[in-house]
Amino acid sequence: MALIVQKFGGTSVGSVEKIQAVADRVIAEHKKGNQMVVVLSAMSGETDKLTGLAQAVQNRPSSREMDMLLSTGEQVTIALLAMAVKERGVDAVALLGDQVSIHTDSTHTKARIKNIDSHLINEHLNSGKIVTIAGFQGVDDHGNITTLGRGGSDTTAVALAAALEADACEIFTDVEGVYTTDPNICTKARKINQICYDEMLELASLGAKVLDIRAVGLAKKYKVPVHVRSTFTDTIGTWVVDEDKIMESLLVSGITYNKNEARITIKKVPDRPGTASQVFLPISDAEILVDMIIQNTRDGHLTDMTFTVMRNDYERAMEIVTEIAQDIGAGCVTGDQHIAKVSIVGVGMRNHSGIASTMFHILSKEGINMMMVSTSEIKVSCIIDEKYTELAVRALHDAFALDKDNMPLEETN
Ligand code: ADP
Ligand code: ASP
Ligand code: MG
Repeated sequence: MALIVQKFGGTSVGSVEKIQAVADRVIAEHKKGNQMVVVLSAMSGETDKLTGLAQAVQNRPSSREMDMLLSTGEQVTIALLAMAVKERGVDAVALLGDQVSIHTDSTHTKARIKNIDSHLINEHLNSGKIVTIAGFQGVDDHGNITTLGRGGSDTTAVALAAALEADACEIFTDVEGVYTTDPNICTKARKINQICYDEMLELASLGAKVLDIRAVGLAKKYKVPVHVRSTFTDTIGTWVVDEDKIMESLLVSGITYNKNEARITIKKVPDRPGTASQVFLPISDAEILVDMIIQNTRDGHLTDMTFTVMRNDYERAMEIVTEIAQDIGAGCVTGDQHIAKVSIVGVGMRNHSGIASTMFHILSKEGINMMMVSTSEIKVSCIIDEKYTELAVRALHDAFALDKDNMPLEETN
């Protein structure tokens, strides 16, 4: 008998029929003698709809009340799935995050899981029930409902798999696994059979939303092998595992894009020690995350500073930066919300040169201007005009021959 955690995303539970199909799938596994914990997202579009309702009634809704609201989407699906399971003659129980309990810190709308009490779940499993659990939510030390941030149900599933020492953690979604790039914008995208945690962390952090980054981080920490697969077929998906379990390394494993960032430039910043911290401290105090930073010296005394923030933090960041620019005697502040970050990722890059220059060459051949560049040992990211995103992704996918099966390192060098 195995203990299996399965997570179904929004599109997988987007209608009553789909919830019934999930019930059939889960029951089939249960009938094999396995204990089943099922984590669900809200129905597709529901969390966006709730966000819209909040914005309609308050300009900047408090994050505590946002969590109270957003957590309701998952309550609907877990209750409906438990009902569908019972309708099919198998016992089930639906549990919210605070009933489990999934303890988090108090950072509303982006809370972090601190620990999970597995007692109640085990009790229900041992009495033969299928347990359906609301993804994306938890409870803080004061009993407040929290949410983990968009896409957070993946994190709930992996955290539960770790806490329950599950034999498998399966993430069911609307594509057949992790692809070389988003299959919805590049028809040549190819499913990756196995990928290591570090590569998946980079892909997730750079925009491949098929798996939430915190879920990958937890999977790596607790060594939970994760199987990302389709809700609608039985095909084997992608295994996210330890690097030493991977049979071969590819030079470039994947291409990602992210249209959620915005760029801010402060011109003519006095070039003296301390100005960077004067700029970035108030931004971090406002809990605004900064991604890329570039500083260009104009002459001996002045420098231009450019950085990116999440697009929904753009207006707040512009307000803060405009004020600071005046305080420190800098020039004007400009911004651009229509940018995209396109990245290539692969552990094979660690030992190979020339990958970044190939990327720059391909983008220039397509007439795409790079505004910013950043690199790590396993990725290269470029900021470009948002309107060229799809073109850039497809051109890079072709250039690195990612559509070809099993392209090991040696053959690409
Ligand atoms: P769910 O609702 O099941 O959590 P998501 O919408 O969060 O699903 O994630 C699945 C989507 O991720 C796919 O429909 C696809 O468009 C997108 N995606 C982006 N990059 C990739 C990638 N490299 N591989 C697979 N899917 C990707
Ligand atoms: N329902 C939440 C969202 O749409 C959480 C999730 O789906 O993972 O972001
Ligand atoms: Mg998701």
